[in-house]
Amino acid sequence: MLDANIAFVPSFVESYNQAATMMQPVGGMDRIAYAFAEQLQAEIFYGTEVSGIFRTGTGVRIEGRTATEQGALETDYVVVTIPPSVLRDIPNDFSPGIQTAIEQTQYANPTKIAFQSPRFWEKEEQIYGGISWTDSDILQIWYPSGGFGQDQGILVGSYLFGGGNATNFGNLSPSARIELALTAGEKVHSQYRANLSQGISVAWSKVPYSLGGWATSNPSPLLLEPDGPFLFAGDHLTYLRGWQEGAVISALNALSKLADAAA
Ligand SMILES: Cc1cc2nc3c(=O)[nH]c(=O)nc-3n(C[C@H](O)[C@H](O)[C@H](O)COP(=O)(O)OP(=O)(O)OC[C@H]3O[C@@H](n4cnc5c(N)ncnc54)[C@H](O)[C@@H]3O)c2cc1C
Repeated sequence: MLDANIAFVPSFVESYNQAATMMQPVGGMDRIAYAFAEQLQAEIFYGTEVSGIFRTGTGVRIEGRTATEQGALETDYVVVTIPPSVLRDIPNDFSPGIQTAIEQTQYANPTKIAFQSPRFWEKEEQIYGGISWTDSDILQIWYPSGGFGQDQGILVGSYLFGGGNATNFGNLSPSARIELALTAGEKVHSQYRANLSQGISVAWSKVPYSLGGWATSNPSPLLLEPDGPFLFAGDHLTYLRGWQEGAVISALNALSKLADAAA
């Protein structure tokens, strides 16, 4: 009871955004984004980086570039969904208060590593899904919540939500991350090193166009209102940060404000 972290696990699974029942899209989280993309199709410019967002007097000019071309699009309004961690470095003429709010949005730096493995945790330890919490640098091990009884499965060997451990993990080379996860994980499962392969890791603070996992600061009220032709949306503007539901709620807010502004 003297361990300061003892309350973390029970409180984590009962928090409002982590409690059961958890739904998961069949085929993976990105199926939701792909389902939206199917509806939009020709409206999406893939491989195009927004390099500037400026007022024109009557609307907005969005500058962009591909690997081979530069161009611009002029429109009456824009809903900006680029995360503040990236947006702060894109040239713009947002109002000074908006620029400050974007600059001050804080981001978590989560990391993950996953492995392929025969499902020894099912066959030998009767573990079917769920999480093993540890007090080591990997924090947690996730077991696949589907495909029970199949030969192989994907095991999440560490998921750090942020902070110093995540910074240290992210600064390691890919092979050193694998070694760290194996060393800590084999204290939980002796079969680990002999079975796990194909380790692949992500440090979201180093992923271009994300530069972080999710906002940790509360949404700025300024970013919830139009700034002339600019509106802003994203999960960082809700209290469901780090959840796609937050991004959808925020988009609905932005569209409602856009309808008011354009009326
Ligand atoms: C580790 C981790 C685990 C998560 N787990 C879950 C989960 O289990 N369930 C869940 O619901 N959510 C989860 N999320 C959160 C989910 O990913 C976000 O809520 C969601 O992606 C936010 O959507 P968004 O549109 O606001 O931002 P994003 O998805 O970040 O979209 C922003 C888009 O802008 C693009 N972009 C950035 N810069 C530029 C530029 N200069 N030019 C053009 N495009 C640009 C990016 O490429 C990206 O496509 C997780 C997030 C992380 C990091």
